[in-house]
Amino acid sequence: MRKVIALAGNPNVGKSTVFNHLTGLRQHTGNWAGKTVECVSGTCKRGSKVYEFVDLPGCYSLSSHSREEEIARDYICLEGPDAVVVVCDATCLERNLILLLQIMEITPKVVLCVNLLDEAKKKKIHVDLQKLSGELHIPVIGCSARSGEGVEQILDAIESLQEKSKEQTGIVHQACLESVDPFVKRARKLCERAVVYEKAEYDRKDRMLDRLFTGRVTGFLVLFLFLFGIFWITAAGANIPSAYLQKGAFWLEEKLIEGAVFLGISPAAYEPIICGAYRVLSWVVSVMLPPMAIFFPLFTLLEDFGYLPRVAFNLDKCFQKCRACGKQALTMCMGFGCNAVGVTGCRIIDSPRERMIAILTNSFVPCNGRFPTMLALLSLFFVGSTGAGADSVLAAVCLSFVILFGIGMTLLVSRILSGTILKGMPSAFTLELPPYRCPKVGRVLINSILNRTLYVLGRAVLVAAPAGLFIWVLANVQTKDASILQHCVNFLDPFGRMIGLDGVILMAFILGMPANEIVLPIILMTYLCQGNLQDISDIYLIKQILTENGWTWLTALNTILFSLLHWPCGTTCLTIRKETGSVKWMALAILIPTAVGLVICFLNTTVVNFVTGVL
Ligand code: GDP
Repeated sequence: MRKVIALAGNPNVGKSTVFNHLTGLRQHTGNWAGKTVECVSGTCKRGSKVYEFVDLPGCYSLSSHSREEEIARDYICLEGPDAVVVVCDATCLERNLILLLQIMEITPKVVLCVNLLDEAKKKKIHVDLQKLSGELHIPVIGCSARSGEGVEQILDAIESLQEKSKEQTGIVHQACLESVDPFVKRARKLCERAVVYEKAEYDRKDRMLDRLFTGRVTGFLVLFLFLFGIFWITAAGANIPSAYLQKGAFWLEEKLIEGAVFLGISPAAYEPIICGAYRVLSWVVSVMLPPMAIFFPLFTLLEDFGYLPRVAFNLDKCFQKCRACGKQALTMCMGFGCNAVGVTGCRIIDSPRERMIAILTNSFVPCNGRFPTMLALLSLFFVGSTGAGADSVLAAVCLSFVILFGIGMTLLVSRILSGTILKGMPSAFTLELPPYRCPKVGRVLINSILNRTLYVLGRAVLVAAPAGLFIWVLANVQTKDASILQHCVNFLDPFGRMIGLDGVILMAFILGMPANEIVLPIILMTYLCQGNLQDISDIYLIKQILTENGWTWLTALNTILFSLLHWPCGTTCLTIRKETGSVKWMALAILIPTAVGLVICFLNTTVVNFVTGVL
């Protein structure tokens, strides 16, 4: 027997956590409102019974007209699930009960799940579950979904629901269209009876933190410090594992070649595999993976703590001035992890105009695949290359400024777009500042390192190895006087030089379209194929390879800028196409950052050359 159970609740009450626990799926959880914008479903078996859980987008009531509320309302009213589990936050039950009361008007088969009891306990808030159940005449379950406590009892409660007849499914019920006032009053009365606040100022600590994180001056200062802190830990921590991985990979390469020679395999057969595919793969893993594996969990910790909505709050004024939506700051933050995720996340923006602006500008924040390139080049060319102590501090400061530059470009381009092809005024929105929650460090670390590592490794095998093979073949197939690679590089070289890059770098960016992680490895690989430098066992030799091929600090700076400002990766482009439903918008999303990147690099090169010429 299969039963369909809808999970409803305000945003950020732990619905996805409950859902994941019950279904074993891994829906994204994060401490901010509006991250689930579509229904996700998963099943849970218990004995002979199968429950299909549908995670509805978080919403505050059923009577207003935001996208999330429409989806949730239509699902409950029109699809007629067998039961609705309403998840509420025990620390702010009064506000949460409004939605519950509205849903109870539509269907009698409701289970109330009072989540976050652990948080409530810490804040000395007592919720009398029995009393609530008695007043509401529905099963009430208390749980702490993060540790899984009490979640299983939800299934018992669903089973205990009697086969009450379903009323009026198939129409949007009157309750959805009524004013929420009576529900607000009833929720207050219920809480007066069932909730006891032991401490009058139970959220004092939150308010103090808010003053610091969202203050006019302190807000931006803290934002910069957080950025700097994350980059510093990443820069300082990534070098050592990188060096070891590099050594290991090179050792293995030698052994592989020895093995191939021993087996009598001809160089024509093993070289493309070992010197092409394997080598680029090992660069990706050793140079790009460690910074990613450090950055991503740190970022997730900030997200879990509840800091991201504060960033949106701080940047709201700036985005308003650019006639865009403050929530764009949130989608920008998501872009840090992955631009494709950032683009999908733009669904949290209701106005189609503002949503489009957010989509078109998302790639101005570098994703996980791009910023290790920037970090590596900054460390090599702008600070000492040891990566220790003061060097990593300086690298982190530089990278923070590069990111701020990206944010500045986002604002500038948003303003230009909203004054031209996407004209209009900014719409008002309410942004909930969620309570701060102590992130579960161990779980975040393990989850994101494992997930990310596997993901990056998977992508590396899928993209980097074939790209390496491809480059090797291009470098070794001769046509007339030079290899195909040489022809391509020669063709691109004049364009590259104009913007302070060269043919190889441009070629690497083009080949890096499927995944940005492979840009730097391809640059190195191409130089190696062209010259005769072969020993790459030491990570600091990267700089030697680059300088021997004519790189100066200006080339490095332009490569960093172009890495920040160029076309989005293949996955992001496809996501943009899907989200906007049009190839034209996708083309624009490619064109805008590329044009900006070309102009900035060109200006940068011209100005620096002029100044150095004068001096
Ligand atoms: P949703 O927006 O309702 O889907 O909420 P999520 O499942 O994404 O949870 C929001 C945040 O609350 C995440 O940081 C969760 O880790 C955290 N969270 C969820 N349930 C609990 C809980 O029972 N206790 C605590 N302390 N945190 C929780």
